[in-house]
Amino acid sequence: MKRIAVIGGGIGGLTAAISLRSFGFACDVYERSPEFREVGAAISVWPNALRVYRQLNMLDSVLEKCGELKEAYIKTSSGKILTRTRPAYELPAVCMHRADLLNALLQQLPSENLHAGHELQHFKTNNDNTIALRFKNGRETTYDLLIGADGINSVVRQQLLGDGEPVFRGYNIWRGIAELPLSQGYGSETLGRGNRIGIVPIRDGLFGWWATANEALGQTDEPEGTLLKLKRIFSDWHDPIPQLFDSSPQIIKNSLVDRVPRRGWSKGNAVLIGDAAHPTTPNLGQGACVAIEGAYLLSRCLAKYGISAQALSTYEALHFPRTKYINKNSLLVGQLGQWQNPVAASLRNLIFYLQPEKASLKILDKYFNYDVTQIPV
Ligand SMILES: Cc1cc2nc3c(=O)[nH]c(=O)nc-3n(C[C@H](O)[C@H](O)[C@H](O)COP(=O)(O)OP(=O)(O)OC[C@H]3O[C@@H](n4cnc5c(N)ncnc54)[C@H](O)[C@@H]3O)c2cc1C
Repeated sequence: MKRIAVIGGGIGGLTAAISLRSFGFACDVYERSPEFREVGAAISVWPNALRVYRQLNMLDSVLEKCGELKEAYIKTSSGKILTRTRPAYELPAVCMHRADLLNALLQQLPSENLHAGHELQHFKTNNDNTIALRFKNGRETTYDLLIGADGINSVVRQQLLGDGEPVFRGYNIWRGIAELPLSQGYGSETLGRGNRIGIVPIRDGLFGWWATANEALGQTDEPEGTLLKLKRIFSDWHDPIPQLFDSSPQIIKNSLVDRVPRRGWSKGNAVLIGDAAHPTTPNLGQGACVAIEGAYLLSRCLAKYGISAQALSTYEALHFPRTKYINKNSLLVGQLGQWQNPVAASLRNLIFYLQPEKASLKILDKYFNYDVTQIPV
């Protein structure tokens, strides 16, 4: 039986393993961390990604702990509503704690195929096209196919494409989870000048939030401290924003990076998925969603064509245009959202204000209506 190694036990890697198993492949997942885990923040899982989990017969477990986004607002910092959008698809638009999603995925996989504490150091293609893997813990092993699902700083990508560091996009993001007195289906993005805040429902009165600022790559919050800094920046924003930070047990911060979309996701029997292949800024909340789509699409191509160049090139040909489109639009949404100039920011807000809900829904359709389980391979 052909054996597949997935490097990286994030949302993309675990979805690939579940999906590959559903098509009859033997699959091991190698994760560098001592345990499979996700950061303490929220993640949106939109209908385009949920269609994959429905197809894999695991929709109920994914939706067990989530919040449905029923009304999404764009607001100004004073609380004026610019747009209101009510997504209506055959599947809900949901958000959840990242750890809840990861646990739902882990439940689907036999523990003997999950190898934590294995950081890939290097791989080599043998004469018979099998792939020899070497891990930092000294373990060496060989597989028929290597799937690099090892995130934006992928070691597999560096060996396949060698395109260096990701690109910093000029702003940083803080994230947390807070208990808030909001109705359960509420979600919002509030636009300021050079700052934004998003709030999404998770479950049981818990909401995930994110906040941005135009800053240098890796800028620390010291000596002021994260809490004081956020309270200072957002003190006069509409409710419940000023209360978000004190109500959050943990706040994490990242610099926002992506990569310029680039083809060449496979060489021999090594292939990239998820952020390793097509990282995007999170402005559309689609990074993990397209990783989920790609994991399923790759499995379908492998099921149809076997482990072959044809399977890997078909996967890339079908998935590259969609991921490029999302990368480009997400970058643009982020640039507009981070506008600092007061005139430009007011103009942007006016355009949102004049946009009818029908137009917002039409834009959403481009992302949410896509069904990777049905496209011909
Ligand atoms: C602030 C922010 C908010 C976001 N919000 C959303 C959202 O709401 N919705 C959405 O769809 N997307 C969102 N995204 C994007 C989403 O987080 C990513 O697209 C998604 O996590 C990618 O999954 P992945 O499995 O490809 O990579 P990752 O999640 O990065 O997982 C890679 C895994 O590989 C492991 N690894 C790395 N190197 C090695 C190695 N050498 N050997 C073994 N293991 C290794 C890592 O430890 C990690 O577990 C957001 C991103 C950011 C930064």
